[in-house]
Amino acid sequence: MIRVIKLSVTGLLLSLSFFANAQWFTHSFEVMGTLSHVEFWLDEPTASQNDSGSVDKTNGNEKAQALIAQVEQEMFRIDQQMSPYKEQSELSLINREAANRAVTISAELFDLLIVAQHLSKISDGAFDITYASIGYQYNYRDKKRPSQAVISEALPAINYTAITLQKENSTVFFNHQGMKVDLGGIAKGYAVKRCLNLLKKAGVAHALVSAGGDTGLLGDRHGRPWLVGVKHPRAEHKMAVHIPLENEAISTSGDYERYFIEDGVRYHHIINPKTGDSARKVVSVSVIGKDPTYVDALSTTVFVKGLAEGLALINKLPEYEAIIIDNQQRLHYSKGLLQ
Ligand code: ADP
Ligand code: MG
Repeated sequence: MIRVIKLSVTGLLLSLSFFANAQWFTHSFEVMGTLSHVEFWLDEPTASQNDSGSVDKTNGNEKAQALIAQVEQEMFRIDQQMSPYKEQSELSLINREAANRAVTISAELFDLLIVAQHLSKISDGAFDITYASIGYQYNYRDKKRPSQAVISEALPAINYTAITLQKENSTVFFNHQGMKVDLGGIAKGYAVKRCLNLLKKAGVAHALVSAGGDTGLLGDRHGRPWLVGVKHPRAEHKMAVHIPLENEAISTSGDYERYFIEDGVRYHHIINPKTGDSARKVVSVSVIGKDPTYVDALSTTVFVKGLAEGLALINKLPEYEAIIIDNQQRLHYSKGLLQ
């Protein structure tokens, strides 16, 4: 169960006076077609013993810059590996070849595909990376969408059970021609998780890493919780709600990120795998939990399932909670947030 922490003003005052030699470092950059942000607390100066036994005295600023560079590199590395838009990516290789032969892939991508398959199973196919078999035919910037005839013909290619993953030789095979996969619903959460682990290993105890709507938190914000905003789905610069959190991840999926409106109908980037059309039961879903990869995938999943089924799924998973905004812009909370 997730504890939503009350704000503490005394905590704030203490943190300001006790850590006069330390400071926050922040950096924003674009990657994976979205804005990423990293923010962490570093005590300075930092002294550490290197392998030869001598003491390295790096000032906090140098260490911070090095960590920021590492976070950036890690995000770009994952983008290079998992982007469907980069011809050289491992993901593009699968999409070109896996319907013809079993393709050997890295352990890292293999493990993420296993997680995606697990999510598909527990969501009865609401989360399905093969949504891309039709998904790639949408272009939200150019207001393009596939016709109903094209959707009907390609729909059988959306079927996660047609992905065969073989652990022994780390291969992936598609039992269906025309099948494509896309990790847009899970890769950013995974990238956030990797970056948080990197900071943690470097001794950082208070950090926020975000990629678009996916945020992961390490510790608190020095005596007070982090306050993460859930965007108002229909007012661009407004927040619908702020959630105080520590040591959790939160991911928001909304129908306002990439979309166009045609004849009053909103076509957006979250696809119902059963129809090949955009999911329209709710307008925003945020999922909170420990694992950034899972909360990313679960926010997309609950969005597809809608209010009743989505809450039913989350209420079965004790480690995860959800905040859903329905079509009337009413807020709904999963059980653990109401206690
Ligand atoms: P973002 O942070 O990219 O706005 P979300 O976490 O809401 O995204 O996920 C939306 C992305 O997930 C889409 O852009 C697409 O790449 C992918 N996606 C869309 N529908 C599905 C689905 N049913 N199952 C898995 N992934 C999906
Ligand atoms: Mg997601």
